Amino acid sequence: MPIHECSLQANGNRMRRFVHHLFACFVATFVTHLNAAEADLILHHGKIVTVDSRFSIQQAVAIRDGRILQAGKDSAVLKLKGARTELVDLKGRMVLPGLMDSHTHPTGASLTEFDHPIPDMESIRDVLDYLAGRARTVKPGDWIVLQQVFITRLREQRYPTRAELDAVAPEHPVMFRTGPDASLNSLALKLSGIDRDFKVSDGGAGLVEKDAKTGEPTGILRNCSRFVPVKTSARAATDEEKRQRLIELFRDYNSVGLTTICDRDASESAIELYKELRSRNELTVRVAVSQDVPSLGEVEKIQDRIRKIGADPLHTEKDDWLRIIGIKTFLDGGMLTGSAYMRQPWGVSDIYAITDPNYRGVRFIPEDRLRIMVRTAVESGLQFTAHSVGDGAVHALLDVYDELSRALNVRATRPCITHANFQSREAVQTAARLGVMMDIQPVWLYLDTRTLTKQFGYERLRYFQPLRSLFKAGVVVGGGSDHMQKVGSLRAINPYNPFLAMQTAVTRKARWYDGKLHPEEALSREQMIQFYTMNNARVLFCEGTRGSLEPGKFADLVVLDTDVLKCADEKIASTRVLRTYVDGKLLFRDGNL
Ligand SMILES: [Zn+2]
Repeated sequence: MPIHECSLQANGNRMRRFVHHLFACFVATFVTHLNAAEADLILHHGKIVTVDSRFSIQQAVAIRDGRILQAGKDSAVLKLKGARTELVDLKGRMVLPGLMDSHTHPTGASLTEFDHPIPDMESIRDVLDYLAGRARTVKPGDWIVLQQVFITRLREQRYPTRAELDAVAPEHPVMFRTGPDASLNSLALKLSGIDRDFKVSDGGAGLVEKDAKTGEPTGILRNCSRFVPVKTSARAATDEEKRQRLIELFRDYNSVGLTTICDRDASESAIELYKELRSRNELTVRVAVSQDVPSLGEVEKIQDRIRKIGADPLHTEKDDWLRIIGIKTFLDGGMLTGSAYMRQPWGVSDIYAITDPNYRGVRFIPEDRLRIMVRTAVESGLQFTAHSVGDGAVHALLDVYDELSRALNVRATRPCITHANFQSREAVQTAARLGVMMDIQPVWLYLDTRTLTKQFGYERLRYFQPLRSLFKAGVVVGGGSDHMQKVGSLRAINPYNPFLAMQTAVTRKARWYDGKLHPEEALSREQMIQFYTMNNARVLFCEGTRGSLEPGKFADLVVLDTDVLKCADEKIASTRVLRTYVDGKLLFRDGNL
């Protein structure tokens, strides 16, 4: 009640009005309470996995105004049914909190096939056939670029050679790019000015592989794509087309149960696009953003950029649909490409075209610079994360977090390590002690174990994605896909179907590989669900409103056709989503429920 109405006046008329007003207030309050008890929607006769602190399973859940009103027994929750409540009989189906993917690249992925469809490629023959086809379509002299077909996932487990690329496209510069590394044909090398005398001289990290006998470049470049003057002749999407494509991708995310995602390297233009969707109410997933911060160039400029991000209203205002949580940069190369920064040498390798027995991969950011970047992020209240695949990179980042933690409250900013594929017992312990979080992608284990065991041997992979150890030590680790290309949850690179990832985390089984990769690191079913719900909520700063189905939290939830707590291991991946609700709204529905 407004305070001015309360000032008592001698005038009787006014007094009568005041009493009348009091009564009206009372009635209004009473009616509001009545309504508050009445749900908009009740899902009942199901198996509601709440992911609360006791991991309790309930029969029904009631929703009002986009929030969870109550989860409990059918008899209790159905008491919240009113005249306008929609009832959904789950017929015993399972409900999970909306799933979260803590590592995606949606804007790029939604446009991968904008110019032309790109087929699945499983062998060098597939790659060469595709490039030959492009050579027939693209004007001679124009660039042909094939991105992110990872050599670890090709049957032959190697790069296409310079000679093979020359044979299928002699008149086009060709770049087969995979992560920071690439294989080029002769014309591409020539146009890039890369010959036997070429040296990386811009102060950045990188390496041009050369033939041991002739001294000529083999065509393999490590972290040197910045010297390659690619000009694309592909059709560019208009702003409207970009928006539509992104909307379609987000709808596809909903169809596999995703209700929150994190863009783990968002450019300014990507953030503008998210803002546009947000202002038009067109977001169907909630978006957390790790804004891209490059590590090259003047340190002061990098610091300015980080501070500016820290002051951005998208960070400070904590919007529930779109929020900048921190920054992302790249500390090393990749394990799919032969440049992850390891503590021990990679070893001479035909797969990765490595000839130097002492080669340990490529580290992108020297210690001093890394320390300044992390410190500035912490001082700006931003989560720092860096792509860190090799154990050398993981330890380097942990060392900086450890050192800065002595003077600063690093823990409060939820410092993160992205990928963190190769670890060690000490890395797990240090992360637990410092409150360092991680975003890890089990589908890489699924797709790459065959090649990684061949390269490193089984024992060196003891702490590869050590999920059970991390859970046991209390490290908050969230699941993700690193989806970067194409739409389609299983055909995309990387596949973003969360059920495939969850199955992999439970079985440690991989494609084209017999047996299991260190099954002692397998998650339980409960942990597997936490990994894609509550843990990601913590990684993404939204555990107060998401990640579990508890009163007051957002009604972001999914109905499944499979009981993923009880089904056979190999049935988890084929789980289908029957309904996806975000903010209490039904955004995806399979005909079967
Ligand atoms: Zn990524």
